[in-house]
Amino acid sequence: MIELIGLSKKELEQELINIGEKPFRTKQLWQWLYFHGATDFDKMSNLSKDLREKLKQNFTITRPKVVNSQLSSDGTHKWLLEFSDGQRIEAVYIPEEDRGAVCISSQVGCAVGCKFCNTGTQKITRNLTTCEIISQFMTARDVYNDWTVKDRKLSNIVVMGMGEPLHNTDNMIKALQILTDPDGMAIGRRKITLSTSGIANKIVEIIKASGVKLAISLHAPNDEKRSQIMPINKKFPLDAVLKACQDYQKLEGSRYITFEYLMLKGFNDSLQDARELVSLMKKYKLGAKFNLIAFNPWEGCGYESSSKNTIRAFAAEIEKGGFEAPIRASRGQDILAACGQLKSKK
Ligand code: SAH
Ligand code: SF4
Repeated sequence: MIELIGLSKKELEQELINIGEKPFRTKQLWQWLYFHGATDFDKMSNLSKDLREKLKQNFTITRPKVVNSQLSSDGTHKWLLEFSDGQRIEAVYIPEEDRGAVCISSQVGCAVGCKFCNTGTQKITRNLTTCEIISQFMTARDVYNDWTVKDRKLSNIVVMGMGEPLHNTDNMIKALQILTDPDGMAIGRRKITLSTSGIANKIVEIIKASGVKLAISLHAPNDEKRSQIMPINKKFPLDAVLKACQDYQKLEGSRYITFEYLMLKGFNDSLQDARELVSLMKKYKLGAKFNLIAFNPWEGCGYESSSKNTIRAFAAEIEKGGFEAPIRASRGQDILAACGQLKSKK
């Protein structure tokens, strides 16, 4: 049996040809899978009964198993999802006023091992397949019955769940291409943001292939501090990451890059740190916007979040330097669904 979710359009066409079908069926089937969100071949009403039988005999349409579902007091919804080999990840829906974003994972665990991140304490088990990446979003759409309705609630995607997406670049690119395909889910490229810890040699490749927005987890204004909290900085120091950002901006014209900056009490939150950040951005001439994130604690982390006043003063200093620096509200903390809190194993 061949799993249909996660095949590219070309691969789907080939599978149909392999069972003796005409290539034009590809678009019809694609629309059932990705526009209607069908999981049952019998619902595919514009396909003949014979064809539906043949599809059933050869193919599967799989969703992960929802093992646990938790709803936060602020509406944030977290799912623990299990794949066919028993591996588990978490995905989160973050509602805004009239729409919202689904935060999806790219790996089981993460090899980067950032000191402040709960996911990073869970060693890497494996990459997610293309099917597993997109089916997180598809499961969320199932839950909210958000497939063929007029004003979809689940309008945005952030690749900010478990794992480093650029350690799984090939499957990720394919997933983004399926999510943005105009005949299927048709999520706008600018409605998807991919966050990376800075795998410098993959940044341009994935943006070229997918066109989505880029966010970089910066978290420190210099190599010395960044290496202390993000071991990946030894392999890809700031210069490599920011040069890749320059290349990205050449490619994408005037687009801004979002730099995520975690506010860690007494570590990276001084006005001097803010000024260093501003000069770093000016040195590399980057069109940048900061997202200041209050640190979300988890058991055994050893860090504390900066106070609200410190964060406000830090934001003001960055804005004085000419860059936007909104403070990102933390969502779903009560169910450990906020940034850096996801984990699927004890
Ligand atoms: N691996 C990718 C994407 C997932 S992490 C990356 O690191 O960019 C999504 C964001 O949450 C990153 O900016 C990450 O640095 C941040 N984060 C990690 N731990 C956190 C914590 N405890 N509190 C707040 N944000 C955290
Ligand atoms: Fe991995 Fe991102 Fe967590 Fe770092 S912050 S350990 S890269 S998931």
